[in-house]
Amino acid sequence: MRLIGVTPTLNDTTGFITIHHDYMNALLRAGAAPVLLPLTGQRDVLETLIARIDGLLLIGGADVSPERYGEETLPLCGDTEPRRDEMEFALCRLALERDLPILGICRGHEVLNCALGGTLYQDIAAQYGDALKHPCYDTPGDQVHAVRVEPSSRLHAITGMDTLRVNSRHHQAVKVLGEGLTVSARATDGLIEGIERPDRRFALGVQWHPETLSAHCPEAQALFNAFVEACR
Ligand code: MN
Repeated sequence: MRLIGVTPTLNDTTGFITIHHDYMNALLRAGAAPVLLPLTGQRDVLETLIARIDGLLLIGGADVSPERYGEETLPLCGDTEPRRDEMEFALCRLALERDLPILGICRGHEVLNCALGGTLYQDIAAQYGDALKHPCYDTPGDQVHAVRVEPSSRLHAITGMDTLRVNSRHHQAVKVLGEGLTVSARATDGLIEGIERPDRRFALGVQWHPETLSAHCPEAQALFNAFVEACR
């Protein structure tokens, strides 16, 4: 069985590190053994963890600190998690160096882009437009908009779909692509919602939350299945 390292969220009020069970269930259905990682930037710990896991899942969460992509924080930027930035940027770069499979979801997709030198819209409505309403936090499982999947992308090979209906729990998005990344999916307003590194075994990010849909939506579960398969 493949061992998949999953990044945590820290709840500052309770002191608990947490993970939504949907991420774990999607990986379990894919036949993997997922393990929740500690929240630390300690380099020797991260190198030890990377050496033991077969794949890295970067989960959703708060906004990436704009200083990570060389921008001033604008008033419309949301809460950030600098400790997760430190850990996840380091883990992401270690995994890319070692060609360890990575799946980035929502914030994780943004981390993958920024760890490779890309940038983000700090607020889609303010900086890109509001033709589509992307922040739909109250309806986590609703497939509120479509994304068009690039025919030549790995995402297309995985899902077999030209168009996917997705949920949308984000107010930020990829602005400038990171090094070596290609676009695999765009929302109907043109916004980038899927990215991948074709020169890596598996390095793929999606802006939506397939884990929320994966129990009943085969093309959402297919992402986790393909990720775990690539970890062999
Ligand atoms: Mn969206």
